[in-house]
Amino acid sequence: MTAVADRLRGLLREGDTVARFSGDEFGILLEGLSSPKEAKAAAARVVEAFRAPLQAGDRQIRLSVSVGVSLASASRHSAEEHVRNADFAMFAAKQSGKGRHHMYDAEERRSADERVRLRSDLQNAVIRNELRVDYQPIIDLRSGAITSLEALVRWQHPDRGLLLPGSFIPVAEEGDAITEIGAWVLATACAQLRVWQKSKSDLAICVNLSGRQLQDPALVGDVKRALRQSGIEPPSLILEVTETILLADPTTESMLLRLKALGVRLAIDDFGTGYSSISYLRRFAVDILKIDLEFTKEVESAEGESLFRGIVELGRSLGLELVAEGIERPAQLARVAATTCDQGQGFLLGGPTEAGAVAELLSAGAIPAIFGSTSSVPRSGRKASRRNPSRSPVTSASMRPT
Ligand code: C2E
Ligand code: MG
Ligand code: MG
Repeated sequence: MTAVADRLRGLLREGDTVARFSGDEFGILLEGLSSPKEAKAAAARVVEAFRAPLQAGDRQIRLSVSVGVSLASASRHSAEEHVRNADFAMFAAKQSGKGRHHMYDAEERRSADERVRLRSDLQNAVIRNELRVDYQPIIDLRSGAITSLEALVRWQHPDRGLLLPGSFIPVAEEGDAITEIGAWVLATACAQLRVWQKSKSDLAICVNLSGRQLQDPALVGDVKRALRQSGIEPPSLILEVTETILLADPTTESMLLRLKALGVRLAIDDFGTGYSSISYLRRFAVDILKIDLEFTKEVESAEGESLFRGIVELGRSLGLELVAEGIERPAQLARVAATTCDQGQGFLLGGPTEAGAVAELLSAGAIPAIFGSTSSVPRSGRKASRRNPSRSPVTSASMRPT
């Protein structure tokens, strides 16, 4: 530590102060700087100075330092608060990699604090009955009938109101809460499907799985339990995973194979936004491709339509069912349907709603505003067979949205 202090001292100007706070933590007070740039440059100099090894007796030691900077000019904080802020910034520097510096940002601090609060609130959300599942219909584009419903979790937060999954699932994934939430959604959605199947027996339910859930060996048990307790047939449960999750972790493959062995179906969510590798579609015995809404958005242009058509043909050649996500406008619906895509989902066909409203939709039969009860969307070139059982030889390739 003496060697560290010596090196730090060598970097300072007359009148600057360096002090050891604790263990391997030092504080440097730089006075009379004319701009934040100077503080930034000083922090960079500290990082740079430790790139060369330290001499400790006859040994050479390599250290990497992380520096956090808090500016006094930017606020009226007390000295203690400045130290805390610099500490926070140092932690952020550490997280971004070795040998970095980071300037304190109050907004960043607020959002980090909020995540901590949210994480602690989430611990009890299931017990306190604050979660609920909404369901979004997935529609057969030929008949307008509902083929399945996607379960989408919501959190009725006691202070913040209704939260969408994007604002709390990533937080839940940082800790263990995702396991409990995931198991609860599975059980709730399967039980709900069982009720709806009394009036429509071929209805299926789609449940989203996050990467963390797929790494948790308890998932197989959770799925089994949800199937057993609800009494639904395994193929009526569709598990949705995104492409990025599939390839993120080598253990995912064995987990997916164990899940598939239960007889459930597998859908690739947001297809086209990740690696779009054809080899994994075959390897994981995927059943359904859900084409990401970015492609649906573009389908009205000639280029967008041919891209969309290409994905549909790819899926079809692999014997997969196809679902277009994010259909918002009648013109998109017509274009998507003309590509022989089987099914669609989107605000135009019905947004996520509470379970009670779904029962009404089911009793109405088809989505009337768009399809009428018997009419079909005009389309060209639809094959008689909706699934192509013979898998044609397609080699591994990669595709990205433009
Ligand atoms: P996702 O699985 O792709 O779900 C579709 C999302 O798109 C939903 O957002 C839905 O409200 C939204 N959406 C539907 N139709 C349209 C449309 O026409 N236009 C546009 N712009 N958006 C549309 P939501 O409910 O906010 O869910 C976001 C994501 O959160 C989901 O994306 C899914 O990845 C994740 N998620 C939802 N529920 C769960 C869950 O129970 N567990 C896990 N692990 N993730 C979940
Ligand atoms: Mg989904
Ligand atoms: Mg999706």
